[in-house]
Amino acid sequence: MQLPPQRQGKEQETSDACVDSSGRRAESGRNPGGDSLFCFPIYGASAQIIQHTCPLYTTMCDVPVRVHRALLIVGTLLGWVCLLPVTVQGQDGPSSETALVIHGGAGSLSADEMSDDREEAYRLALRTALQEGNAVLRDGGSALDAVQAAITTMEADTLFNAARGAVRTSEGAVELDAAIMDGATRNAGALTGVQTVKHPIRLARAIMEDSYHVMFAQEGAEAFAEQQGLELVENEYFITAARRSGEEKAPADPPAAQEEDEKYGTVGAVALDAAGNLAAGTSTGGISDKEFGRVGDSPIVGAGTYAHNASCAVSATGQGEFFIRGVAAHSVASRMRFGDRPLGEAAQRTIDEIEELGGVGGVIALDRDGNIATPFSTGGMFRAYVAPDGTTAVRIFDAAAEE
Ligand code: ASP
Repeated sequence: MQLPPQRQGKEQETSDACVDSSGRRAESGRNPGGDSLFCFPIYGASAQIIQHTCPLYTTMCDVPVRVHRALLIVGTLLGWVCLLPVTVQGQDGPSSETALVIHGGAGSLSADEMSDDREEAYRLALRTALQEGNAVLRDGGSALDAVQAAITTMEADTLFNAARGAVRTSEGAVELDAAIMDGATRNAGALTGVQTVKHPIRLARAIMEDSYHVMFAQEGAEAFAEQQGLELVENEYFITAARRSGEEKAPADPPAAQEEDEKYGTVGAVALDAAGNLAAGTSTGGISDKEFGRVGDSPIVGAGTYAHNASCAVSATGQGEFFIRGVAAHSVASRMRFGDRPLGEAAQRTIDEIEELGGVGGVIALDRDGNIATPFSTGGMFRAYVAPDGTTAVRIFDAAAEE
């Protein structure tokens, strides 16, 4: 049965406008930046469905054009409904499983040297941040919101080197860096050298969502924070008694000569939400006694922070100069995406490469299937996760010391 000439022509034209070289329409679905496109033949299918599911249609070639049109619209809708289960199965599949991984910095942490009280305080702080972030995911919230919630909690905790509790520059002030990235869109927001923003991760989110730009520095970032109505505080707010006395011991040491112990405390989070989207975020005071204006890896997209639904979400911690030179977070993603490596191997190899460059540190990484990797080349890394199956872990030292 042939369609009336003008309808046939129009159907063909619409269909051609949507086809790719395989003759099928490409639909990006909920993975706009990703490589898991799924394809389906919309109009051809609806015509076939009309013919197969509506035998009456074949006897109606003589009915008026308006009736034909109505049948075609109904048929097209029917085609969509019939094809829906096929297309959902054909893509990577939205996961109803969620996952969250956080870190609170890496350093020469040793189980023998850390007091029980201190260890318990860190474990409690990690557990609290994990719960805050995971509550967002459990309530159906986005990976971005979960990352922000976990990091905001750690920024407010003086144990970490992020916002309150951050280390000071060689000039004695606190300068904060942060970044957040959405794996679904690869939108990102970042800031560096901020001295008055109470929660830098919130500013990163505002930069991502409410500005055209990706990254702001120093006074410009602070002016934008003020415009956005974010809470501002005096620089003194960030400087805790512990940091003050810790730095008084070695005020003039250049960063390279510092004990690794003094470098931990950067915070980060990576999350996978129920819609299958990944996100990553990192917030830090940088390294102790850093030169005025020094920028680390944390706020640099691809170095300390990266998320892409096509591969993984990563937040790094360690000697930022090496993580910038190794483009560490993006390297994990690239090893997966272009080298076909599994997440664990991609993350471990990246840390090995940073070590080959002369730097130490670690990453937390999470892929779309909920795989988790937390390799580090230091004595320990404060870290915690909730896996898709609900397994929860809070760890500080290497696997052997944690047993
Ligand atoms: N990577 C951070 C920086 O270099 C420091 C850290 O993670 O401890 O700024």
